[in-house]
Amino acid sequence: MSKHTFKTEVSQLLHLIIHSLYSHKEIFLRELVSNASDALDKLKYLTLTDDAYKEIAFDPKIDISFRESPSKTITISDDGIGMNKEDLTNQLGTIARSGTKAFIDQLSGDAKKDANLIGQFGVGFYSCFMVADRVEVLTRKAGEEQAWLWKSDGKSNFTIEEGQREEPGTTITLFLNDEGAEYASRWEIDQLVKKYSNHIPFPIFLSYDQKKYDDKGKETGEIEHKREQINSAAALWKRPKNELTDEDYHEFYKSIGHDSEEPLLYIHTKAEGTLEYTTLFFVPKHAPFDLYQADYRPGVKLYVKRVFITDDEKELMPTYLRFLRGVIDSEDLPLNVSREILQQNRVLNSIRTASVKKVLGEFKSLAENNPETYNEFITEYNRPLKEGLYSDFANRDLLLELVRFKSTSQEGFTSLAAYKERMKEDQKAIYYITGGDEETLRNSPLLEAYKGKGVEVLVMNDEIDEIVVPSIGKFNDVELKAVNRTGAADDLKSDDDKKTEESAKPLMEKLKKALGDRVKDVVASTRLSDSPSCIVADEDDPTAQLQQMLKAMGQ
Ligand code: ADP
Ligand code: MG
Repeated sequence: MSKHTFKTEVSQLLHLIIHSLYSHKEIFLRELVSNASDALDKLKYLTLTDDAYKEIAFDPKIDISFRESPSKTITISDDGIGMNKEDLTNQLGTIARSGTKAFIDQLSGDAKKDANLIGQFGVGFYSCFMVADRVEVLTRKAGEEQAWLWKSDGKSNFTIEEGQREEPGTTITLFLNDEGAEYASRWEIDQLVKKYSNHIPFPIFLSYDQKKYDDKGKETGEIEHKREQINSAAALWKRPKNELTDEDYHEFYKSIGHDSEEPLLYIHTKAEGTLEYTTLFFVPKHAPFDLYQADYRPGVKLYVKRVFITDDEKELMPTYLRFLRGVIDSEDLPLNVSREILQQNRVLNSIRTASVKKVLGEFKSLAENNPETYNEFITEYNRPLKEGLYSDFANRDLLLELVRFKSTSQEGFTSLAAYKERMKEDQKAIYYITGGDEETLRNSPLLEAYKGKGVEVLVMNDEIDEIVVPSIGKFNDVELKAVNRTGAADDLKSDDDKKTEESAKPLMEKLKKALGDRVKDVVASTRLSDSPSCIVADEDDPTAQLQQMLKAMGQ
């Protein structure tokens, strides 16, 4: 037997999970079933693609049983890929992803939200210590002879010793604590599996003992051992749309999206023709917490003819749509499509291109038909869509219709199209201001002249605006102009204004001399009405904030 200590981050995390999420402790079952399902996916894939595994008699399933006395336990067993000693140490002793700290920072104190983070973050296994004070994992890796037994109390240590297991797979036994005692029940397990894991594509069986009754309904004193399937185990996305209800979709989303909230939107598409595929995409109500982290988890899973291929491929959909959760299932890809060449795969490229169009189109109709929901959507996803403006040139026009901005004349968000509608007859451009937070921008002296003339200015306080918006150039033939650039206010000038500027020239020369190298130029301008002066960027220079950003990046 060997004894190991958890990596410090695991200990911290365990402590945190146990103490902050106990009000949603029931998710432990969802997480363990989801791990069992992943393990089945992995072995299924190997049996279909790798000759070394073809001989395995593979009957993928998950078995759950429980015991009420003497001590209460729950056992979850799968015949999936299993783990060897090394896997056990690495997978159940450390946290693979970099961001424990990020996870901890994300914890909001709202147990419901935090409970979702667990699964999204890839630390689901540890949730079992909320309901158990002792956990045993008996596992044998497919293709290997030796089985191993991992044991831990979830505090600081775990042990690994040799074990006995007839077939490859994993059996996890939870020795329930007082918090978890209630789950050693047929009814509870049945409820939880139906609630969270109904659409796991493998059968989940529950075993239980039942008293036997005779014809007259009298107990015979005998006990019958029963085993029944408790999930629907169908690939939901393959079912005809007209057979599915909103609730079916929502439930499916919750089981694959590690989310207890309903999705904001789902988009189910079946393509038949040159390419045959099914896609089912969901937009989470709240942006995934790791949306802006480099090691974010992609949310779209790739299947080939219902066989799971990968959920770790960031290029299945463009990066800016990384908030999508869901499934792509292709009939045309070979099962053993190399994961390395997925990105260049012609079939997948076509699916991706069509899916992006479809999804953006759905966003557009949401904006048109359901502005309230669209507003929720844009509050969460405006920024990634703006990234798309920068990276997805082919869909730029559509994206320009989808993004929203704050404005000096409107409450909430406005679209560029709506701004254009409101433009004054002789207005030459769409004006915007960037380079600070919303309040600073709204109070900027640069806006005075526009306010004076009743011209609307878009308030672009999103950091990304500064990078993306100058590249837009035009929206439907109307130029976008930054008011913090020298040329911008010229449009607003009257002849009188021009005269005033002319007469101020001698003063400007003096100021320029006094300021020397610190400025590029000093000019008189009619853009201010109350403030005496302001600093602007030259038309071709990066604006002040961008200059700072570039500096920070070492440019
Ligand atoms: P995630 O599932 O997001 O990777 P978890 O904390 O739920 O994170 O699980 C950690 C790892 O432990 C898994 O990635 C997997 O390698 C391993 N694991 C957990 N349960 C099983 C199982 N039933 N069969 C095989 N491996 C498992
Ligand atoms: Mg997991």
